[in-house]
Formats: sequence, C-alpha cells, structure tokens
Amino acid sequence: MAIGVQADMATPALARFGSDELKREFLAPTIAGDVVACLGVSEPGAGSDVASIKTKAVRKGDDYIVNGGKMWITSGCQADWMCLLANTSDGPPHRNKSLLCLPMKSSGVHIAKKIDKMGMRSSDTAQIFFEDVRIPSKYLIGEEGMGFTYQMLQFQEERMWGVANILVPLENVIKETIDYTRQRMAFSQPILHNQTVHFRLAELATEVELLRSLLYRAVALYIHGTDVTKFASMAKLKAGRLARELTDSCLQFWGGMGFTNEVLVSRLYRDTRLMSIGAGADEVMLSIICKYMDTLPKKQRP
Ligand SMILES: Cc1cc2nc3c(=O)[nH]c(=O)nc-3n(C[C@H](O)[C@H](O)[C@H](O)COP(=O)(O)OP(=O)(O)OC[C@H]3O[C@@H](n4cnc5c(N)ncnc54)[C@H](O)[C@@H]3O)c2cc1C
Repeated sequence: MAIGVQADMATPALARFGSDELKREFLAPTIAGDVVACLGVSEPGAGSDVASIKTKAVRKGDDYIVNGGKMWITSGCQADWMCLLANTSDGPPHRNKSLLCLPMKSSGVHIAKKIDKMGMRSSDTAQIFFEDVRIPSKYLIGEEGMGFTYQMLQFQEERMWGVANILVPLENVIKETIDYTRQRMAFSQPILHNQTVHFRLAELATEVELLRSLLYRAVALYIHGTDVTKFASMAKLKAGRLARELTDSCLQFWGGMGFTNEVLVSRLYRDTRLMSIGAGADEVMLSIICKYMDTLPKKQRP
C-alpha cells in the first residue's frame, strides 16, 4: 500500500503537472525512497463525493494558509509530505480546487489518530487536522483551480495500480489452497479431488486471467496517452468483486484453518476487502462506467 501511494497515488499529478523546482524538491526524493509521500483527498465528511471536500487553502501574499482535515490517510503517521487537495476559491466545486505539496512537519499539522483497521494492518492510516498551516504558494502543483481535474486523472493510475497489486496475491491464495486441499484428507480422499473444489479453483483462476487481460489493455492504452477512465474503472470494479469472491471461496475450502490468523487466505480475505471501498467504492466505479455508457440519469438542478 505504502509503495502504491508513493509511486502511483500521491505523485502522478506532480510528475505530470508540477514545476521542475517542485519535482526536484518533492518528486526526486520520493522516487529515491528518501522521503515518504501521502495523498490527502478524503475527509470525515467527504469520501465518495470528492467535490464536497471542505479543507481550504487561502492565498495570503506568497503563501497559502491551510485549514481543515483529512481522513483515511495511508502512511499519514509517517509521511514527510502530502499531495493535498484543497479548495482555493469559492467557485464551482469542480473548478475551485488545487493540488498542493504540503510538508507534514509544518507547524499546525496535527496527526489526530492512527485508525485501527480490520485489514491492511501493516499500513498506517491517519486522521489529520490542519490549523493555519502556512505553505509557500510555489508548492502549488500546476495551475490553481485545476486540482479536481488533476486528481481525477491521478485516480486512474491509482486504480490501475490497485488492480496490478492484487493479481499476484489472488494467485497465491489459489496456489496455497491447491496445496492445502491436496494434502488435507476428508472421506478418504484429498479435499481437492471433489469436483466442486477443483472446478471452482479453475473458474477463479480463469477470472484472474481475465482481470489481468483487462488491466494490460488499460495500461497499454494509458501509455499511449488514451483516456482509460472507463477501462480503469471496470478493472477496479472487477478486482474488488473478484477479490471478495475468490478469498471467500478459497477460505471455505480451508475449513476451520481458514478462520485462523495463521494462514494467508484469512489475511487476504480481510486485506483485499478494501479494494471495493478505497480509491472510489464499487458504486462510484459503476457510476463512472454508466457515464461512459450514457446511461447515468442527469442530475436535476433545483
Ligand atoms: C484503509 C484505507 C486507506 C485509505 N487511504 C486513503 C488515502 O491515502 N488518501 C485518501 O484521500 N483517502 C484514502 N482512503 C479513503 C477512501 O478512498 C474512501 O474510504 C472511499 O473513497 C470511500 O469514501 P467513504 O469512506 O467516505 O465512504 P462514503 O462516501 O461515506 O460511502 C459509503 C458507501 O456508500 C455507497 N455509495 C457512495 N456513493 C454512492 C453512489 N453514488 N451510489 C450508490 N452508493 C454509493 C458505497 O457503498 C460506499 O462504500 C482510504 C480508505 C481506507 C479504508
């Protein structure tokens, strides 16, 4: 998770739109692994609805003064800097936001708590408050007012990373389940010899390969500069659904052992549950796909 944040969540917008000076100060040491980055988008009152964030960065002379707070920040307890999404004006919600590099050691940054989670327990997740945090205006990434657009682009990379990151763990669960059920006997035969077991594992392995193909297609298009929002959203949706289905099915074949904390399958059952929630919930992915299919009802303005 932390590596994903470092490489594909907190830095793509900086790499694409940041000034050379900003890239030297924040991107180069992040790539080198000398500093830890985090991404500050979600807030206590705004997760799926990114446009409704409340954190403000108000321009005062050569500085921005930041007030507000962020929630669910991966690596937030240890990060050196945050790629922060904040409102920099009172304009329309998709045009009033900016991305800023915020040094986490700045005065007024308060790490309120480390959140106790059911999974991804080796990755720290923080709630953070900002109280009159002063950062130089040169820490703005790209143009003021373009933050929402930059973040939506940045999300595509985050979502593709999420899919890429889950493929091998899912394959490993299948492999370990084959090994376990091959040696575990019930009713005088290995559990794997039941057709419901080996057929199910074959179905799940097929689904993993389909997911891999969709990801490769999305990444190939992305590298060629094509808008991959639809395919990245489809892959992210499918990855979340498949991870839940696969870990649940495999865990069942482990019997009581699957319900212990001693085996990989139970850990991934918990860890991969995040896939359907983080980086945009399944329902948000469905809404994006529907937009591209032109089936999403238009919002009625009062
Ligand atoms: C472990 C972890 C790490 C995270 N790391 C980061 C991070 O580093 N940086 C960061 O900024 N954020 C991070 N997040 C936040 C994550 O992106 C949000 O949790 C996610 O976007 C969902 O927002 P929410 O939790 O506020 O859920 P809500 O917005 O409250 O939504 C709750 C549920 O409502 C449903 N829902 C929402 N919208 C719709 C809709 N339009 N139609 C139908 N149903 C809907 C969905 O089922 C959704 O799961 C992290 C979260 C977790 C749990």
